[in-house]
Amino acid sequence: MIPPIATRFVAGTSPATALEHVQALDDEEVGAILNVLGEHHADPDAVAADVDAYRSLVDSIARTAFDACISVKPSQIGLDIGSEEFESNLKRIVSQAAERGVFVWVDMEDHTTTDATLEAYERLAREYAPDRGARATEPADGEPTESAASETTAAATNGSGEAVDEDRAAVEGVLGLCLQANLKRTREDVERLADVPGKVRLVKGAYDEPKSIAYKEKDRVDEAYRTLLEDAFENRDGGIAVGSHDPEMIDYSKQLHEEHGTPYEVQMLMGVRGDAQRDLAADGVTVYQYVPYGSRWLSYFYRRVRERKENLLFAVRAILS
Ligand SMILES: Cc1cc2nc3c(=O)[nH]c(=O)nc-3n(C[C@H](O)[C@H](O)[C@H](O)COP(=O)(O)OP(=O)(O)OC[C@H]3O[C@@H](n4cnc5c(N)ncnc54)[C@H](O)[C@@H]3O)c2cc1C
Repeated sequence: MIPPIATRFVAGTSPATALEHVQALDDEEVGAILNVLGEHHADPDAVAADVDAYRSLVDSIARTAFDACISVKPSQIGLDIGSEEFESNLKRIVSQAAERGVFVWVDMEDHTTTDATLEAYERLAREYAPDRGARATEPADGEPTESAASETTAAATNGSGEAVDEDRAAVEGVLGLCLQANLKRTREDVERLADVPGKVRLVKGAYDEPKSIAYKEKDRVDEAYRTLLEDAFENRDGGIAVGSHDPEMIDYSKQLHEEHGTPYEVQMLMGVRGDAQRDLAADGVTVYQYVPYGSRWLSYFYRRVRERKENLLFAVRAILS
């Protein structure tokens, strides 16, 4: 059970409480990106448990009409054990999600994980591209294989089984990857993903990276973020997610969208600028909220509180009242 103080940032400990929150978001036309809290699992049993949790979550989402998807952390599903373990677990999740028409995001962790994450992402995004029907070739865990035709249809549906724009689905695929503006390599990584079906979530970057490979000053990170947005809106056909709470970046994305016509979505965290999320959605912008849940809520909650003075004040006020 999560104390009320943490429920601003975490949607309970179970899929049921998380889906209740998704229902409330749905009422406000805000989509949800569900994350089972957990990272850096070195224990294969913990990895297996979280892979199963995501696969079961995918089934739960597919049974609803909500606009919801999932986001997984590489070190949660095996990267700390090895890159092959990570890729095969990601594939198990993606295979199931593709069959159910549920989109999968891959979070990006610190720079030591970037290459392995990109490589696995790129292979799977190509393999599960909706127009290639590649999912017909290999069942997940020996589960019955459906026909290529029915799988292709599944790829062009959303979680509620409704048909989605097929051109859009072909561009965006079933997978998306987070890329971090604070890493100097990211411009090249975006170029590398130019012809890979899938979405790209641009964020400023949450990890304290060495200065040899990363921009450290806020101004420099903001400048890199702006440049990445410009490149993305000019050169991508779609599938751009703006993962930021920064009003300046959100306004700039709107401006770039109006200039280039490129579709995009805004993504923010649960508990952060909720009013802005609702206002943007009411203005017709596609908005997704990143919704973490699960028993490992404490360290996530501390991170949110540490990163911003207002969150700390909120926490103290909640304790005092
Ligand atoms: C959906 C989502 C997914 C993410 N996934 C990843 C990931 O996979 N890997 C990764 O490294 N990082 C990830 N991040 C975190 C990201 O890298 C940043 O660390 C984080 O979003 C802070 O940067 P910012 O752009 O939001 O704004 P900042 O540069 O921190 O702040 C800029 C402005 O935004 C506003 N703002 C920011 N935070 C708040 C707040 N709490 N309350 C009110 N206003 C605020 C303020 O006006 C502030 O001046 C993710 C972020 C989001 C939203």
